[in-house]
Amino acid sequence: MDETPRIRSWSYNRLLDFERCKLRAKLKYLDRIPELPRPLPEGKKEQPNDRGTRIHLVAEQYVRGASELIPELDGFAEEFAKLRLLFTLGEAELEGDWGFNDIWEPCSWQRAWLRAKLDAIVTLPDAHMVVIDYKTGKRAGNEIKHNEQMLLYALATVHRYPAVQKVTVELWYLDEDQLVRSDYDRHSVMRHFERFNKRAVAMTSCTEFPARPNMFTCRFCTYGPKGSGDCKDGV
Ligand code: SF4
Repeated sequence: MDETPRIRSWSYNRLLDFERCKLRAKLKYLDRIPELPRPLPEGKKEQPNDRGTRIHLVAEQYVRGASELIPELDGFAEEFAKLRLLFTLGEAELEGDWGFNDIWEPCSWQRAWLRAKLDAIVTLPDAHMVVIDYKTGKRAGNEIKHNEQMLLYALATVHRYPAVQKVTVELWYLDEDQLVRSDYDRHSVMRHFERFNKRAVAMTSCTEFPARPNMFTCRFCTYGPKGSGDCKDGV
């Protein structure tokens, strides 16, 4: 087996990190150097990531019938109640950890080349599935990224379920009371397969990780000279 260090598995967020700066992706996913904690955003009591994890957990517990809805989820009370009912009826799954090998066949999470985490998956009649992703934070400024993520969820669904003909992906913006929905049929979603696959292969076969300093990527990276110093080229 070729032992050259590579980032051997990918997710949508990893792919974005890699495409923005290969060195950052190497430090984070290959060398596994933890990023430094960032200062709390003004007026916030929790880091955005910690808050996101907490909200996802309480949403899952509510749908499983293990807790009540918390006020932060009130804007989606109706949707969560419906999801809870579907879960009770066995028509919804929660916390889907989907793994795929490099020919996009389902495999275990541990051995996966592609990993996709889904918050809820609902099976409807007529070979139709609905995939739901809870979002904390804003949609504005993230539209392109989130639309691509929706496509990747749809691609993952049609690969995992060969009989599925239609996929609806819903992003629930819990802080903004906004639900964004896209419908895909198998044929239309597969048109995006080659493009995603090519990007993923470029990432998982890469063996050189040059820095790509620029004010936009370095601003959100803690490996630079003003942070941990693992990267000397950051600006
Ligand atoms: S500081 Fe900038 S150049 Fe250095 S790893 Fe981070 S994003 Fe890349």
